[in-house]
Amino acid sequence: MIDDAETHVHPHPGAARLRATAAALLEGSGVAITDLRACVLETLAEADRPLSAYDVSEAVSVRLGRRVVANSVYRILDLFVAHNLAKRIECRSAYVANVHPDCAHDCIFLVCKACGAIDHLDDDLLAQTIRGHAADRGFVAARTVLEIEGLCHRCNG
Ligand SMILES: [Zn+2]
Ligand SMILES: [Zn+2]
Repeated sequence: MIDDAETHVHPHPGAARLRATAAALLEGSGVAITDLRACVLETLAEADRPLSAYDVSEAVSVRLGRRVVANSVYRILDLFVAHNLAKRIECRSAYVANVHPDCAHDCIFLVCKACGAIDHLDDDLLAQTIRGHAADRGFVAARTVLEIEGLCHRCNG
């Protein structure tokens, strides 16, 4: 098996590993991984679809046994996105845990309009090509949004 950008896979890390990775990434900015932050990250990681800040605040409130408002969750989600721990799915205004927090990719998300499930792939060559086209026009790309809406293999049968 060739270990290049197109074939390398990112299995989902377990909760303990996720927390350790999050702690390491946040530490660089002087931010601690609190129980609330860890709980938000675990909730995202265990979900089978992207979650809105409201979805996360509901789930986290139940898990922690106290009311956590969506505003607090928004701040944490922004922090996670800034540190590559979570990705925002723009067409859903929702978030997923980043399965490769140690790796920078312009992720390509496949979003099922029927069941809401999300699939994810990385094609660095394609992403570089898109960024290159922007650069050719003198445009400095900060962030790309690569999302495809449609029907997943379970829903299109
Ligand atoms: Zn990716
Ligand atoms: Zn589907």
